[in-house]
Amino acid sequence: MEKPIQVTRSAMPDFDEYVEEIRGLWDSRWLTNMGAKHNKLESMLCDYLRTPNVALFANGHLALESAIDALGCNGEVITTPFTFVSTTHAIVRRGLKPVFCDVNKDDYTIDVGSIEELITERTSAIMAVHVFGNVCDVYKIESLAEKYNLKVIYDAAHAFGVSLNGRSIATFGDISMFSFHATKVFHTIEGGALAYAGQNLKAKMKGLRDFGIAGSGSVIMTSGNAKMNEFQAAMGLCNLRHIEDEIEKRRIVVERYRKHLGDIKGIRMNPIQENVKSNYAYFPVVFDGYRMSRDEVFEVLRAESIFPRKYFYPLTSDLECYRDEFDSHATPVAKELSGKVLTLPLYGELELRDVDVICDIILNGGGR
Ligand SMILES: *Cc1c(COP(=O)(O)O)cnc(C)c1O
Repeated sequence: MEKPIQVTRSAMPDFDEYVEEIRGLWDSRWLTNMGAKHNKLESMLCDYLRTPNVALFANGHLALESAIDALGCNGEVITTPFTFVSTTHAIVRRGLKPVFCDVNKDDYTIDVGSIEELITERTSAIMAVHVFGNVCDVYKIESLAEKYNLKVIYDAAHAFGVSLNGRSIATFGDISMFSFHATKVFHTIEGGALAYAGQNLKAKMKGLRDFGIAGSGSVIMTSGNAKMNEFQAAMGLCNLRHIEDEIEKRRIVVERYRKHLGDIKGIRMNPIQENVKSNYAYFPVVFDGYRMSRDEVFEVLRAESIFPRKYFYPLTSDLECYRDEFDSHATPVAKELSGKVLTLPLYGELELRDVDVICDIILNGGGR
């Protein structure tokens, strides 16, 4: 490849569109602290995500930590290690203990059949991940949460715009976290949001982003700063205008990958889930019994300046900061998956002929 191909490339509005969006800030001089752009984006996201409440944050990670605080979780939280490290860090940084549950072999989300045996009297919540935009078994998780009186937080960082049976993914569980990082399907450069139904959380959400401030002279809780600024919100307002177009372009790229890799022995593609409207966030491929291992495919592509990523390897339970404390063999499906999965380049602007080249290298490269 003449120019390197990374696993993703940030969607950007036209330069002029962004400039037009931020022009007013030179008059208002209101650059952050729940400004006009921020409030407009919150309300537009309520519409887009079809949820009664959205609280914007400076980034997805702080949103996730704040979700734990907002619900008053304590003790143990059941979660999965096949995710970006943010999920595990959020639990640990709030002083709680992650209890790792295995994932499904077919869609990589939490294995709901293994949750119950991990519940103890210290369990306060389930933090499940809609990994790669694949939807968790939300109905089973809901019934377990009711039975054992647990809170449910979804790490929906990958699932912006996804719906199940026509119902927005943002409306399941107590709170769903979305990341608007530059690498995500919808972004605000850095940014994130919590979507929630409970009106009782509204005051807390405000405080959690803004030093616990409830009003002038009134601070009701200990909290840090996680506010989204006006330049971030302006990027969000621009990108939201083009989100359907971005998702449609990604769909076409995914179709192309599927055409090439669909019927190849030893290559397993991301599942197409029934009744799910996908956002085509990622294109993970599992090499299981293929003539090349995942690591070989990775190297062969890299030699051609194509840079897929080993999402998610290692498991978070295998990372230096956690491996002394956890045994990743306790989640055998996740362990095996993390050794075989490779996430191929996917973004709206990816040229179909580049997809053809990537697939040709996977199918014919590396010698025999
Ligand atoms: C991106 C991501 C996060 C963190 O979001 P940031 O906006 O980067 O802070 C959390 N969880 C998962 C699964 C992610 O992919």
